[in-house]
Amino acid sequence: MYRTVTCGELRLADAGKSVTLAGWVQRIRKMGGMTFIDLRDRYGITQLSFNQETDAALCDAANKLGREFVLQVKGVVVERYSKNAALPTGEIEIEVKELNVLNPAVTPPFTIEDETDGGDDLRMKYRYLDLRRTCVRKNLELRHKMAFEVRRYLDEQGFLEVETPVLVNSTPEGARDFVVPSRMNPGQFYALPQSPQILKQLLMVSGFDRYFQIVKCFRDEDLRADRQPEFTQIDCEMSFVEQEDILNMFEGMSRHLFKVIKGIDLPKLPRMTWADAMKYYGSDKPDTRFDMRFVELMDIFHAAPGFTVFDSANYIGGICAKGCATYTRKQLDALTEFVKKPQIGAKGMVYARVEADGSVKSSVDKFYSQEVLQQLKAAMNAEAGDLILILSGEDIMKTRKQLCELRLEMGRQLGLRDPQKYSCLWVIDFPMYEWSDEEQRLMAMHHPFTSPKPEDIPLLDTDPASVRANAYDMVINGVEVGGGSIRIHDAKLQEKVFEILGFTPEQAQTKFGFLMNAFKYGAPPHGGLAYGLDRFVSLFAGLDSIRDCIAFPKNNQGRDVMLGAPGLLDPVQLDELQLKVDLKG
Ligand code: ASP
Repeated sequence: MYRTVTCGELRLADAGKSVTLAGWVQRIRKMGGMTFIDLRDRYGITQLSFNQETDAALCDAANKLGREFVLQVKGVVVERYSKNAALPTGEIEIEVKELNVLNPAVTPPFTIEDETDGGDDLRMKYRYLDLRRTCVRKNLELRHKMAFEVRRYLDEQGFLEVETPVLVNSTPEGARDFVVPSRMNPGQFYALPQSPQILKQLLMVSGFDRYFQIVKCFRDEDLRADRQPEFTQIDCEMSFVEQEDILNMFEGMSRHLFKVIKGIDLPKLPRMTWADAMKYYGSDKPDTRFDMRFVELMDIFHAAPGFTVFDSANYIGGICAKGCATYTRKQLDALTEFVKKPQIGAKGMVYARVEADGSVKSSVDKFYSQEVLQQLKAAMNAEAGDLILILSGEDIMKTRKQLCELRLEMGRQLGLRDPQKYSCLWVIDFPMYEWSDEEQRLMAMHHPFTSPKPEDIPLLDTDPASVRANAYDMVINGVEVGGGSIRIHDAKLQEKVFEILGFTPEQAQTKFGFLMNAFKYGAPPHGGLAYGLDRFVSLFAGLDSIRDCIAFPKNNQGRDVMLGAPGLLDPVQLDELQLKVDLKG
């Protein structure tokens, strides 16, 4: 046995015990005739002490060790002279009697500490060292615990975890596929699943009325902080359910996670329609940790024309930043620059301050009377000391999105986006379709199997763009953590939806024929959703990026810099696949 205790468990009550520990050298300090080593393992840090006076040979050996050496030590637990309140083991140390170097180590390329000197790239290249850092390890521990509690909750609710294949063909989430060549079928390719959507629906046809799977999904998309080419879903589906049943079941799951992991009693989740989310927050995933809702100002400004920018705008919206009338010219200029950044794309920003006497001073004073500005103040519910920020534009949705960015930025500046605070809600009643400029056709906003709201079905013939879906997202702190829908289980309705999406009956048959066929054998009404496990964990961990809750993530170029993947294929492998690489351009 290499050890009798771990580095995290000894306390003052253990004083006097003889123990054996094993771990890595975190730090070596020499003080007078003493040498102290912090020994680290997964469970914590324990201080080892070596005394030159009582055992010079052992102390000399300790002085020759380096960072990250792997040691085994035997010794006695003693009370520490100077305690370290920051460590759970800070009241004791080990008076070492025997030291075995299990393995020496070369100096690591960065310090294995929470505040490390290693940059992102270096840490990714040596991810196995990065994972030794407590702060990173803790994220993986949290991930394990969350996945475990998800399984516990769903198991108790009668869900079965069923694995589905990874070598499949294109699935309908609308991203690009990762593909894998088939040696046995030369020239043909599998696609990796963007989600097990179709397979879980087929499981419903098979009668597995409560399915879940914690499963890898693959989407070849441009990467951002909250995206990875391979990510993990908590994928779920239920039969004989309506939207309400699903919302309740999975609100329950989130409540369970919040309770057991964070000790938080999640209140009943508010629901917001997609239309309201867009109107008041300019986003289908509103960050509701703070209010600062949009107010539409078209009526006020169009009634008093004069400022051409507003006169010609289809949308004018404002937010009220409480207590920010003290913002300096410099701060306001910086906000204007912020909204003008190409990623945001606003042309400019108008502001108005409410002075101590209640009067309003604005950047467009010369175009509007104080009377109009007072109407603005009333509409914005603004008081003395508040700052009103206004954006306008031709395209309603685009301008709302710009105002959303400004709202989030103000929330950030005012410290209203506290990662320790959680605000969760359901966004419901998503539109069935969204227009794609690129493809010049309607696209499924969720996916083509999503059911329209029954009362909107007649609109499929007359005004498909206005049809709402039985689709829902769970949003926490402005992050979409999960989403799903009630599915179509009626072959005729499904055909119609395919038709609106621009599939000819033949195309629909080739792509999804097996599902349509399966539906002919008795498909139960069903629906489901999928959570992004990585996002959920990173929210609970208070991380900005999902990368740090994934053991071996990819970088923004989709590369695993540690493994050197993706890489070139060996010519022999290409031969076996009967493929020749001939890159275009
Ligand atoms: N398959 C969907 C997705 O990945 C989730 C669902 O509708 O259940 O977004």
